Amino acid sequence: MSRVYNFSAGPAALPEEVLKQAQEEMLDWQGSGMSVMEMSHRGKEFMSIAAQAEADLRELMAIPDNYKVLFMQGGASSQFSMVPMNLLRGKTSADYINTGSWSKKAIAEARKYCQVNVVAESPAGEYTVPAPDTLKLNRDAAYLHYTPNETIQGVEFPYVPESGDVPLVADLSSTILSRPVDVSKFGVIYAGAQKNIGPAGLTVVIVRDDLIGEPVKGTPAMFDYKIQADGDSMYNTPPTYGWYLAGLVFQWLKRNGGLAAMAETNQRKAAALYAAIDGSDFYHNPVEKSCRSWMNVPFTLADAELDGKFLAEAKEAGLVTLKGHRSVGGMRASIYNAMPESGVKALIDFMADFEKRNG
Ligand code: PMP
Repeated sequence: MSRVYNFSAGPAALPEEVLKQAQEEMLDWQGSGMSVMEMSHRGKEFMSIAAQAEADLRELMAIPDNYKVLFMQGGASSQFSMVPMNLLRGKTSADYINTGSWSKKAIAEARKYCQVNVVAESPAGEYTVPAPDTLKLNRDAAYLHYTPNETIQGVEFPYVPESGDVPLVADLSSTILSRPVDVSKFGVIYAGAQKNIGPAGLTVVIVRDDLIGEPVKGTPAMFDYKIQADGDSMYNTPPTYGWYLAGLVFQWLKRNGGLAAMAETNQRKAAALYAAIDGSDFYHNPVEKSCRSWMNVPFTLADAELDGKFLAEAKEAGLVTLKGHRSVGGMRASIYNAMPESGVKALIDFMADFEKRNG
């Protein structure tokens, strides 16, 4: 067996320990005589798996008791519509900050339900986030939505926007669990699982109690936070295997020191990679230093003609999925929790060697 260092933005690498545990438990989960995939979601075995996963996530993120944790389907993209459907509650507008590709998608979807005020945006062509004092928030907005980490541009907020009494909504898809966050500052946090949580198909939604109920007329039951919360995310058959695997990841995180320890390692990994890029005239990262993502590191080569060669030789060296998103080109190294420091070091060494031979 030879495992590669996988720099995919998502679905992304999972901790090897977690995959091995899932493999060991694949045919017979803890004496049940069946795989988790084969269990009734209402049976006591799966109910215990589900409850443990939620308890572990609550502990890891220190989620206050007045928040519900929903294990849903539909990806983060479904939340682009579920957020306005559930949070408008009679209001007619919502504030959005636009910092890149995923913000734009959230905005486009919200426009189907309400007036969207884009209260701040990154200047065109600039890889940065708006300064806190430039946010022109509306006091009558139903909520303020932002994307703390733009997975494609590699741009991250170095601060949490202050929204006063207006609930703050965050698409944490590509940065959840990478470091501690103060959940109490948010009305809703959502994230597709396929980066730092587990396999694709599961979406985690953390929503404050008082924001649940009164969805817009015509909201499908599956999209109604109240129905999902009242049914403990089992209004219909939930993504059971993804939920189980997420639970294994949460336990792995707990064994490895929780989110404070993750933050330290992630910061070190990112700092080393950015230092390698900045220390060379051959590689370039366009993001303003204060807003550089710890999770997604885009970079270009001095000569784009060498991109194909770089990718082919990196693959030979066991470093895969480094191609940048089609909308920005170049390379992108996604270095989520499951990417070990040894993987980042291997990439840095390969980059230096490639530059020596081609620079
Ligand atoms: N938001 C962000 C920040 C993302 O990175 C992604 C996926 N790359 C999405 C939303 C969309 O997620 P999904 O594919 O789960 O709908």
